[in-house]
Amino acid sequence: MKTLNHSVVVFSRNYLPLNQINIKRAIALLVMGKAEPIDFFGDVIIEVRSPSILISVPRCIRLHVSPERMWKMPPVSRKNLLRRDAHQCQYCGNRKNLTIDHIIPRSKGGKHTWNNVVIACVDCNSRKGNKTPTEAGMALATQPKAPMHPAVAFAEHFWQQQNLPLNQEQ
Ligand SMILES: [Zn+2]
Repeated sequence: MKTLNHSVVVFSRNYLPLNQINIKRAIALLVMGKAEPIDFFGDVIIEVRSPSILISVPRCIRLHVSPERMWKMPPVSRKNLLRRDAHQCQYCGNRKNLTIDHIIPRSKGGKHTWNNVVIACVDCNSRKGNKTPTEAGMALATQPKAPMHPAVAFAEHFWQQQNLPLNQEQ
């Protein structure tokens, strides 16, 4: 059954594309009344019949609840920082002896936040010491950012792929 390998795009109540799910999961959400089909592209992947119901599964469904509200900003932990910074010192690119660097040192009021913490190797970290990057003459590879809400990240990717003319009125 090739159709059952299709995936369905899930939208939030506010029509924000959230993620892509397996068609079987989409059918379950439709049957349970947790989602409704949206006729976005006008095509139906599959029709599911049983004696009592007929469900048309489109390429997109819309949830009746808003799971995006349940997302919380991940904590600024070593594990999460390593993932964001791709296990690389953000000053020299070294992949060994990694530690956490506060860009504006804590002694100068720098906070333990996504924007002020990067992965750095022990060498760069001690060379920088109690200075800001400017004071130490060191440059960051990229400006550190907080992780993007997964729905926002998915939405950006989704709209890039659709190649649809944007509705100017919205
Ligand atoms: Zn380094």
